[in-house]
Amino acid sequence: MTNANDMNVSTIVIVGGGVIGLSSAYHLARRGVPRVVLLEKDTVGAGASSRAGGIITAQLWSKTGIEARKLSLRLFQEISEELRPYGYRFQAVGCLNLFSPADWCEREKLLPLYRECGLPYETLAAAEIRQRWPLLAPADDIIGLFDPLGGYSEPDDYIPALAQHCRALGVDIREGVTVTDFVVERGRVMGIRADGEFLAADQVICCAHSWTNRLLAAVGLQLPMKSFVHQRYLTAPLAKAPALPAVNANPAGVYLRPAKGDRLLVGGETANRLEQENPAYGFGMDDLRAPAGFSARLRGKAQALLPALAQAPFQVERVGLIAFSMDGEPILGAVSGVSGLLLGTAFHSGGFAYNPVAGKLLADLATEGETTLDITAFSPDRFKPAEASVYRKSRLRQNQAFSRRH
Ligand SMILES: Cc1cc2nc3c(=O)[nH]c(=O)nc-3n(C[C@H](O)[C@H](O)[C@H](O)COP(=O)(O)OP(=O)(O)OC[C@H]3O[C@@H](n4cnc5c(N)ncnc54)[C@H](O)[C@@H]3O)c2cc1C
Repeated sequence: MTNANDMNVSTIVIVGGGVIGLSSAYHLARRGVPRVVLLEKDTVGAGASSRAGGIITAQLWSKTGIEARKLSLRLFQEISEELRPYGYRFQAVGCLNLFSPADWCEREKLLPLYRECGLPYETLAAAEIRQRWPLLAPADDIIGLFDPLGGYSEPDDYIPALAQHCRALGVDIREGVTVTDFVVERGRVMGIRADGEFLAADQVICCAHSWTNRLLAAVGLQLPMKSFVHQRYLTAPLAKAPALPAVNANPAGVYLRPAKGDRLLVGGETANRLEQENPAYGFGMDDLRAPAGFSARLRGKAQALLPALAQAPFQVERVGLIAFSMDGEPILGAVSGVSGLLLGTAFHSGGFAYNPVAGKLLADLATEGETTLDITAFSPDRFKPAEASVYRKSRLRQNQAFSRRH
């Protein structure tokens, strides 16, 4: 295990108690940082994290993304053992990504990269999918790409288990505390100000999701990222547990997976909805609503693929924000100009899947100043200022931003 004193780090403050902040806290505590303080304006998990579908796949679009997710999947398995006493278990059912013939042309181009990265996959024709998972009824022209390492995690189990474990490891988690400023002197972060109080820190890790730009404004920084409303539903219990992998049904704009209690989880985006502009600190994701009639339309699309859904009405709706950067890749790393400040945000609709590795990478940077994985592609400094400014000023609908699921 790394020695946290490599960089003389004694206090690290984390802003945001979603899965990215919690995972950072966990990795920092595990490597012996003397004082880790996590500040959350609401309650742990109250942001996007508790709304996540929890679907995890490593079949992404870039080498960095794929390598990071491979690590995430391994860490999900490992942490599953560690969190078992708290009632959490990673569900290794695999993840089936579905494509129309037109979209498949694009995805097929990524297969050499998957092979280069040692990522196992299976391509499946519609008939093979129907045979392997009789509950699924894809149309004949659908192509499946199965990720045998993928699966899902129940946020309602994972988040409290991880928070409890962090506390047991000595992390000081403070809820109901709003950070309003990063305190910077001569280009170096000295700490944060929260509810009028100063808290000194050697490093600050900002995991404030859609609130990141509001916080960064205080230090004259802005990231080219956009937030959009996203929703998912939990059905009533079925007669028996549905034997299914997690499914990204891209042609239908739907995803689904089995869920705890013999239920199904079904989600999808609102393609035409305008972005949610920089939320105020007082804004909470409970303030969001899905558009009228959305759940019925989503159900119709999902039922075409999974006819058994007809027997299971939606019972629970969760609505939250997903955040996309200008190029669709996460934003993770140090910012030039403010040393000691690290950012982890814009994980598209895949922040839950990224969380174990994102926390590890942020902990690596905070304690060692470097990561074993090359994450240049995630750098907050990678954007050209003029393009980033135009992007920030634009007003986009979800379907005008990057289309990246999980
Ligand atoms: C409906 C839905 C379904 C999704 N499905 C999936 C999925 O299947 N798989 C997947 O991988 N991802 C999924 N996602 C995306 C995933 O939920 C997010 O990418 C992930 O939760 C982001 O985690 P986070 O910790 O960055 O954000 P959050 O969970 O939002 O945490 C940020 C926290 O920071 C706090 N905060 C903000 N400002 C301040 C401040 N000034 N002071 C103190 N605290 C502050 C907020 O209250 C919040 O709790 C889904 C998202 C939604 C909305």
